[in-house]
Amino acid sequence: MPYFDYAATTPCDARVLETIADHARMPLNASSVHQMGQRARRLLTEARERLAGCLGVTDPAWIVFTSGATEAVNLALRGYQETLGRRMRVLSSPIEHACVTDTLAALAEHGRADVERLAVVPSGRLLMPETLRDPIDLLCIMHANNETGVIQDVTTARDFARDNGIVWLCDASQSLGKIPLDLGVLGADWTVVSSHKVYGPTGVGCLIGPAVKRLESQLTGGPQEDERRAGTQAVALILGFVRAVELAIADMESRRAHLDHLEHVFFDRLDQAGVVWRRNGEAPFLPGFFNVTFDNAAEAMDAVIALDQMGFQVSPGSACSTGVVSISPVLEAMYPGDCVRAAGGVRVTFGKDTAEREVFALADAIIKLWKKG
Ligand code: PLP
Repeated sequence: MPYFDYAATTPCDARVLETIADHARMPLNASSVHQMGQRARRLLTEARERLAGCLGVTDPAWIVFTSGATEAVNLALRGYQETLGRRMRVLSSPIEHACVTDTLAALAEHGRADVERLAVVPSGRLLMPETLRDPIDLLCIMHANNETGVIQDVTTARDFARDNGIVWLCDASQSLGKIPLDLGVLGADWTVVSSHKVYGPTGVGCLIGPAVKRLESQLTGGPQEDERRAGTQAVALILGFVRAVELAIADMESRRAHLDHLEHVFFDRLDQAGVVWRRNGEAPFLPGFFNVTFDNAAEAMDAVIALDQMGFQVSPGSACSTGVVSISPVLEAMYPGDCVRAAGGVRVTFGKDTAEREVFALADAIIKLWKKG
């Protein structure tokens, strides 16, 4: 069945699966003292060094492997609040992933954080304040949005954080592997990435940054990950993750060219059939990633269900909000008062293995639905 939801998750690359299988066969516990344990430790150290090399990370010890981006965000937000030992003052945005917004909401509910939100404009970009009314401890601004694919102005975010002496948590889960990501240049105190968005296995990701040492661990147990994340490391998955990142970086240009081509033929086909569509947000976008509201907009969920019944898998927004039929808070924040636009946004994301004929078939299915009205 043609799949157009690569922003939700990607299939594991065959070469990555091989790496995982080669290592999952072995009893690799990096905390064991015997030779197999030593081997696991060596593999883990190498994996950390290779990932640091891929992402411009100065010190491999700044990487804390977790089960994914959600856990990494929880470690950063909850861990930093505990380190501060008081109510944390946070400046966040209305377009963050639920793992950020819901964790901040939970901290606020328990009197552990005060959260202010930046404004977002219709381009999907955040407006940085000229000055700060009150002191802020933490800035939460993502790298690229998971519903629209809009890439944020991260240089301005970095300068703002530096000028105001604020630590910055940057969720780069959607950017990793799709656009160049050099964490030395990015300059966030903590960056979050996830393996299953980049053709790696599900169940692994990491929190990276010079400030990881400033976090209270959120799991009790063993001293793994420099006492930042208790629990036996998933060595085979971590090796698969690192391999997936290496492949994504090596193939980035050709993947991008392929995705740009697919996007071009997709919109061309819709235009030729006279379909009227509005792309939500403004460039720069992640490649092969778009959120579109059609002119005679059915509710996004209806369109997604109709397309699913025709064999095409797209998304009404972020996968994490599936099942709850509500207007996307991201589009709502971008287009306040324009319910039709916000409710009709359909997210389509292409992947490295998406074929041109699949894209034509999707466009034709949309044209058919659009003509039906
Ligand atoms: N952050 C963003 C921007 C995402 O798109 C996602 C996944 O949808 C996450 C965080 C959560 O990632 P994980 O599934 O690794 O917990």
